[in-house]
Amino acid sequence: MRPSRILVRAPNWVGDVVLSLGSVRDLRRRFPDARLEVLARPHVSELYRAVREVDAVRASAGVRADAAAIRGAFDVAVLLPNSFASALPPFLAGVPERWGYATDGRGWLLTRRARVPAALRGRSEVYYYRAMLAGVGLTVSAAPDCTLACPAEWSALGAEALGEDGPWVGLNPGAFYGSAKRWMPERYAAVGDRLARRRGVKVAIVGSAAERPLGESIAAAMQAPALNLCGETTLAALVGALSRLRLLVTNDSGPMHLAAALGVPVVAVFGPTDWRETAPVGEGHRLVREPVECAPCRLRECPIDHRCMRRVTADRVAEAALEALA
Ligand code: SF4
Repeated sequence: MRPSRILVRAPNWVGDVVLSLGSVRDLRRRFPDARLEVLARPHVSELYRAVREVDAVRASAGVRADAAAIRGAFDVAVLLPNSFASALPPFLAGVPERWGYATDGRGWLLTRRARVPAALRGRSEVYYYRAMLAGVGLTVSAAPDCTLACPAEWSALGAEALGEDGPWVGLNPGAFYGSAKRWMPERYAAVGDRLARRRGVKVAIVGSAAERPLGESIAAAMQAPALNLCGETTLAALVGALSRLRLLVTNDSGPMHLAAALGVPVVAVFGPTDWRETAPVGEGHRLVREPVECAPCRLRECPIDHRCMRRVTADRVAEAALEALA
């Protein structure tokens, strides 16, 4: 089959977008002459403007609006999310070919169905997306490329947000998914102070508008000055700021994956999530975790005493960060 117009339905979370970039590139490699467009939720759609393999990006506006917008415009829809809802617009729009995992009761909406291989458990999510493409009969690369190159204008936005020259280290104390993924704010403050004192770095706190009070509490607890960028950046400016960091100390989150994709070293504290599946991709990153018996539980909120995070000391994270900076 030689489709000339391909629609990729993007994942809904920034981290998943990054981890699926290798599969978008595999699609481009397999169909070099096709027009390749991405349909994505508005909060992640901007990211695809930094992916040169993508010809155009559409912001999703809901099932019916998406179906109307894509009717007659594509030969194939490739679904990266697992949900029933993500398969509905191409089905309703009559896109002739609809490919994806047969998950969430949506197999009948698809024309090519992949099964989730059991062997993927405990492997990076990068391979989950790759296995879907292989499962619908496409050739995939041995080493998916999930890197991001920061566009010059995004880098300039990042410089503007940071306001002065570095060296900068970032702290990312939030996690949109839920509080179980969040390491303790006072320990972030202690790590920030230790790095400022020992390595002379400047500290920027990144995150969303909802995390601004969290950023403020960390800045207030630190002795060294800290720049609270939570809620102050667009996604483009956040990518630009991350690209200028020497290091990001972070929870398992979207900014963690963005930094890793940009080639910025990461020190990541892992608790309830499976570090084998969602670890930052690339070389030189450090994971700090405590092997408690209940992890990985994948819960949003901890039902017990949050031991997976509480047992990770500020000393351990600071040592990992100092090593990374060295
Ligand atoms: S149940 Fe265990 S792994 Fe899950 S958040 Fe609580 S302490 Fe962490």
